[in-house]
Amino acid sequence: MKHVYRLKKLKNVPIAFGQIVHELAEKAVRLFLEHGHVMTESELIGQARGMMNRAYTDSRDQKRQWMQKPARFHMLYDMYYGGELNRMEAEEYRRRLHIVFKNLLWSGSFRDITERPQTMQFQQAEEFRFMTVDGVKIFVVMDLLYRDLEADKWVIVDWKTGKEADDDRSQLALYAYYIIQKYGASVEEIEIRNEYVLTGVQKSYQLSEADIEIMLQKMKQSIHMMRRYQLDMISNEPVELRDFPRTEYERRCETCNYKEVCLGLSQNN
Ligand code: SF4
Repeated sequence: MKHVYRLKKLKNVPIAFGQIVHELAEKAVRLFLEHGHVMTESELIGQARGMMNRAYTDSRDQKRQWMQKPARFHMLYDMYYGGELNRMEAEEYRRRLHIVFKNLLWSGSFRDITERPQTMQFQQAEEFRFMTVDGVKIFVVMDLLYRDLEADKWVIVDWKTGKEADDDRSQLALYAYYIIQKYGASVEEIEIRNEYVLTGVQKSYQLSEADIEIMLQKMKQSIHMMRRYQLDMISNEPVELRDFPRTEYERRCETCNYKEVCLGLSQNN
């Protein structure tokens, strides 16, 4: 089990990049709200570069420590399975640092916060926001949530470091459902917003009751599927590994974190 947990923590360069940008976006908002300090582009780029370097040096030099404490150290997927990074990809993400932080600081959401904070009420990021669907505890991790007093709306912001995807909007329906449950808001009072920091595009949506219903149905189906692989509900013990069917799309296996246990592949394959 510990082995599988460790593999879950492997991240490829795009994921590591996304986590770093999210962490720094959260820090930039917090520093402004707590101290009125607006981080500069070069501060953000410098810190992000340091974090990317640390992900690389941890992967190269701290494998043993990572094996013991996979949440405390980093391990990049390519370094784990291939022994080295894809240079072109790493260069590309280094180049993107200059784009995403400029766009972050210029985004409508970030400027709203720094230009008219008195018209907004920020929700403290509680440590663990969760809700229960069909008896299953679902953790809700929102990038940014505030109440816009001027527009009389709850605004849920999601920073996106990749390209636009079809399900970006439906992902946010889960967060909207949480606001409805927790604060008794109506769906019309909630604005969901994707900020694409790679392109500088902002997309805002108004969800409908039907969107929420569709999301809940999908979630219940997925919970139902998950339970078929649970041997014991109390201890959360899963069925045997061999009882999990393999994907029919074998190309997925090439980049899968779990191929080592699932296909019995050793590292450097
Ligand atoms: S079948 Fe392929 S994609 Fe699915 S867990 Fe195994 S290696 Fe990963």
